[in-house]
Amino acid sequence: MPATPTPESLRRIEKLVQVYCEKSGTTTHPDPTVTQAVVNGLAANLDQIGRPLCPCRFYPDKKEEATHRTWICACDDMQIYKYCHCMLFVNSEGIPITEYLPPDHPGVQTYGIVKDPAPDKGRPMRAQAAKREQERIERNS
Ligand code: SF4
Repeated sequence: MPATPTPESLRRIEKLVQVYCEKSGTTTHPDPTVTQAVVNGLAANLDQIGRPLCPCRFYPDKKEEATHRTWICACDDMQIYKYCHCMLFVNSEGIPITEYLPPDHPGVQTYGIVKDPAPDKGRPMRAQAAKREQERIERNS
C-alpha cells in the first residue's frame, strides 16, 4: 500500500500543479480522483526521496532515477512535447496533448492527435524535440 504523504508535501505538490497548469495552459483532469491519485504519488515520492519523481512509472532504483531530471515532474516529456502520460496536465476534456509527439509514440497511438489548447504556453525544452527525433531515426536505421 502506498505511503500516506505528509501535508507539507501535498501542499508543495498542489502548488506545483497549480503553477504548472498556468505556465503550460493545461488543466488538471476533470475527474478529481485521477488528479488526487497522481498528486498523492508525487507527494509520496517527495517525502521518500526528496524529489517529485513521476509516480506513473516503475524504477529499479528511485534514488538513482531522481539524480536525473528526465522523470522529475514536470518531466522531459511535458517540457518538450507537453505530454503527460499520468493525465495530470491535460486539456479540458481530460485528454493528454499529443500533437507534438513523434508519430510512433504510444500516446499518439492511444489518443490520436490531440491539439494543444494553448500553443503559446509551455514547452520550455521544445528545442530538444528535433534532437530526439534525429536520435530516433538513427536508432531505427
Ligand atoms: S508524466 Fe510528467 S508531467 Fe505528468 S505527472 Fe508524470 S512527471 Fe508530471
